[in-house]
Amino acid sequence: MEKPEILYMVVPCYNEEEVLNETASQLKAKYTSLIERKLISPESRVVFVNDGSKDKTWSMIQELHKADPNFFSGINLAHNSGHQNAVLAGLMTVKEICDMAITMDADLQDDINTIDAMVEKYYEGNQVVYGVRSARDTDTFFKKFTAEGFYKFMKVMGADVVYNHADFRLMSRRVLQELANFKEVNLFLRGMVPLIGFQSCSVYYERHERFAGESKYPLKKMLAFAVNGITSFSTKPLKLITTLGFIMSALSICMFIWAFIAKIGGFSEHGWSSTMCSIWFIGGLQLLCLGIIGEYVGKIYAEVKQRPRYIVAEFINEPPKE
Ligand code: UDP
Ligand code: MG
Repeated sequence: MEKPEILYMVVPCYNEEEVLNETASQLKAKYTSLIERKLISPESRVVFVNDGSKDKTWSMIQELHKADPNFFSGINLAHNSGHQNAVLAGLMTVKEICDMAITMDADLQDDINTIDAMVEKYYEGNQVVYGVRSARDTDTFFKKFTAEGFYKFMKVMGADVVYNHADFRLMSRRVLQELANFKEVNLFLRGMVPLIGFQSCSVYYERHERFAGESKYPLKKMLAFAVNGITSFSTKPLKLITTLGFIMSALSICMFIWAFIAKIGGFSEHGWSSTMCSIWFIGGLQLLCLGIIGEYVGKIYAEVKQRPRYIVAEFINEPPKE
């Protein structure tokens, strides 16, 4: 291997005073060994992104920086912007100064010892290395059930996500530069990164329990995150309305026939046939119209996101001969 490359660690922190120092010292030890093994450059850094914490998190980050300015850096966001935005803020800040960046939660749930394998995979030519949890033994039944259901549902809805991969991943500088071209406001990084493409692979790790403190993702936030993931990556729910409209319209024709038979057979109340027909027909028509509008809304939605339409992986071009 030539010169070891620069690794930046991006760690979003929201009210993490209970875990921050432990995370910092574990990362320092990990980096020291990686630098000794000449896997990463001594210019590598850890960047804590303070996501508008209400506790001592930011002053602790400042102290860490003061004690070890060549190792710990910090970004202070103006207000709480949410995990995904905090991660992106960190990545976009370091994208020109690092060769690779790893994003990791502050609570030590992601296994720090996986970093070695991630960096090795990077040198093997992978531009993205996904950290995938191999087991969910430490999760409660409820978390496991909802989380695994979420990944399966995402797949059905047509969004390409890596099963059981959250936001513990390595990305090369090249991938970060492409990520910068995704202008969407509703971030769902684990859906966006696979869209970028390039050579990628997964490494497996066991997810630990939170070192200390409480989850900053209560059920309400988790549900909002799942809904955001689906609506940001798929217009299938809109298409479903169109399908439903067609089914209802077809059913209304059956209803017409049935009402007609009942009418001439003389076994219907007066007024029943016309009421039944109009309910089904109008219901179907309304859904169909909604569906058509939905199709257009879906198109507008895709347009306003202004995602890059293609990503050039390589440019092979012979210089013109003199
Ligand atoms: N986090 C953040 N902003 C928020 C919520 C969470 O930066 O608004 C950070 C948090 O400090 C942690 C990571 O995102 O480093 C994941 O949060 P948490 O561990 O609470 O989620 P869980 O693992 O329970 O899903
Ligand atoms: Mg956590």
